Amino acid sequence: MRRLIGVDIGGTRTRVGAFSAGELLARREFPTQGMEQANQAIRNLLSQVGWERPEAIGVGAPSPMDMRAGIILGCPNLPHWRNVKVVEELREAFGCPVYLANDATCAAIGELEFGHRARDFVYITWSTGIGGGIVAGGRVVWGATGQAGEIGHMVIRPDGPLCRCGKRGCLEAVASGTGIARAAEERLGERLPAKEVVARARAGDPGARGIAEEACRAFGQGLAIVWELLEPELVILGGGLTQAWDYLGPMVMEALGRMARGKPRVVLTKLGDDVGLYGAAALPDHFPKEWASR
Ligand SMILES: [Zn+2]
Repeated sequence: MRRLIGVDIGGTRTRVGAFSAGELLARREFPTQGMEQANQAIRNLLSQVGWERPEAIGVGAPSPMDMRAGIILGCPNLPHWRNVKVVEELREAFGCPVYLANDATCAAIGELEFGHRARDFVYITWSTGIGGGIVAGGRVVWGATGQAGEIGHMVIRPDGPLCRCGKRGCLEAVASGTGIARAAEERLGERLPAKEVVARARAGDPGARGIAEEACRAFGQGLAIVWELLEPELVILGGGLTQAWDYLGPMVMEALGRMARGKPRVVLTKLGDDVGLYGAAALPDHFPKEWASR
């Protein structure tokens, strides 16, 4: 029985979980701070489940990173995680192999091992940002440096709004929660979280409705590009905006239907907010062997 620890560092909350034989034994969740706090949470978890040490630790984070070196480079969302050698520090603290990957790729691994268990699928998180992970033939597609599946940074409006990556018109800049909030500030003259914009759109506010429709059209366009490129068996969605899928979904699917050939199948994750945590725990079994020389 493999005893694995998953760590899912989120922009607002961090989750840690202890898994044995593919089962989540115990989990903890707390507002994201830095390395020291994550370290302590793992210690607490180990004493809770009575393990001296785990066999391996997998870490997912929503940040630019050097996967091979095991370093989180940090971003405005993660001020406590700038240039943190997370792999080296956890390996020294817990005496086991440690692996690091992008959070959306981890979520795809979570879906592969614990969720819908398709063999050819794309997982996309539609939330504050937009991220993705690709699984083909039951294997994760990593790309040359682990950045494959960065669907949020496909440019869909070359003259569109500035993205946090520095480019203009990325899918994320147009259709993410951040993009929706920015559109609301520009057009409605109010600083509103995306959730509130969606709530007002649902209630019939024409300005908010226009913003929601535009984001859904752009998101559907992104899904159509992914579909035409990979023809996945499933497109699996997670993230905060999918909580309003009953309202947003039909608009997304209408755009996707117009822009894609065939009949794309789009489903929601079964693992909710823990999809990234499950995937982080299974990351040690999927991390590219040739990169894991540590
Ligand atoms: Zn971008």
